[in-house]
Amino acid sequence: MRELTRYFDWNATTPMLEPALKMWTEATHSLWHNPSSLYAEAGYAKQRLEDAREDLADVIGLDDPERIVFTSGATEANNAVIRHLSQNVSGRFAISATEHPCVEASAETYFGKERVFSIPVHPETGVIDLGRLRDELETSTVGAVSVMAANNETGTLQPWQDVAELCREYGVPFHCDAAQWIGKLPADGLSQCDWFTASGHKFGGGRGVGFLLVPQDEEFHASVGGPQEHGRRAGTENVASAIAMVEALETVEEYGLSNVAELRGKARDVFENAVCSKLDIRTIGGNGPRLWNTSMILLPHTRNLKWLTRLSRRKFAVSTGSACSAGKGNPSKVMEAMGLDHEEMGRVLRLSGGWETTEEDWLTLADALFEIEEELRNPQ
Ligand code: PLP
Repeated sequence: MRELTRYFDWNATTPMLEPALKMWTEATHSLWHNPSSLYAEAGYAKQRLEDAREDLADVIGLDDPERIVFTSGATEANNAVIRHLSQNVSGRFAISATEHPCVEASAETYFGKERVFSIPVHPETGVIDLGRLRDELETSTVGAVSVMAANNETGTLQPWQDVAELCREYGVPFHCDAAQWIGKLPADGLSQCDWFTASGHKFGGGRGVGFLLVPQDEEFHASVGGPQEHGRRAGTENVASAIAMVEALETVEEYGLSNVAELRGKARDVFENAVCSKLDIRTIGGNGPRLWNTSMILLPHTRNLKWLTRLSRRKFAVSTGSACSAGKGNPSKVMEAMGLDHEEMGRVLRLSGGWETTEEDWLTLADALFEIEEELRNPQ
């Protein structure tokens, strides 16, 4: 396995945490019966799933565990919530200009492009223009709002608490895609959003599992054709993955995520200061509130793929973000909203660390960037 000290793509996915992996392995061996069946082993599997739902409710500070629906991840959850909203509210759907493609595509598909209002973000910080959202709620027919908690590319933190309050004031349902927030920052408080969605593999809980929060007493069906998840998501439950995911979230919350944010954020800042002072590198969204683990940088020259390949040879795993490379494909909506032109989008790298990525790890990456810059500037 690639050394984790050189893994800088934690926003894409995370390795399963040991306690979660242990739980998943045990559960896969012993809890494989169909929870809907009527014999004792099946009843036990069902009970363990309900226990996990209660534990998850405790972690996210939720009184009513029945508001939680386990899903296959955040993409499914976001699709289901937005489809539901499109069928139950009239008027427009306001989303931030930097939503994950699964939110943006769901909005355009289920509401129709003409009904989607894109809330602009400040190009320097990536934070939404709250005043603009308020004006829109005041003067137009916005029927629902979706704003992510933390951006997957830049790490920008959105003021979801303020958006939740604003939406309450105007009596409009609010959905928050919290896939990048949960497990990196304390989950407490997110239950004040009417709807929120999360993904297990972003916090060491394994791929193909996630959850969503439904408002109390809301009639909701992510899928139909079965009684599972209290009738809210038809399909045989993935018991092992759900309980392993909850174990992972409990584990990371026990790290003390506010402390992790402070300590690891400083390490990331040391890296950014080092590369920005030595090379003509600039951070994207660096002037605003950000996740402690994320650094999106604009490289001084040469397409990002050339840097990525050279980093990969040195065993570093990084991402180019969702920008098109070599001028093909669609430009990244996030980078567009942050004011980057097409050429600049091809010079972006997204670097994201984990809970144990140290200052030394970040500085090793900085040294690799210095070497590569020299190589690219003076090819042999
Ligand atoms: N939303 C955000 C902000 C994400 O970063 C991701 C994953 O990259 C998703 C949604 C989709 O999550 P999943 O992989 O669980 O479908």
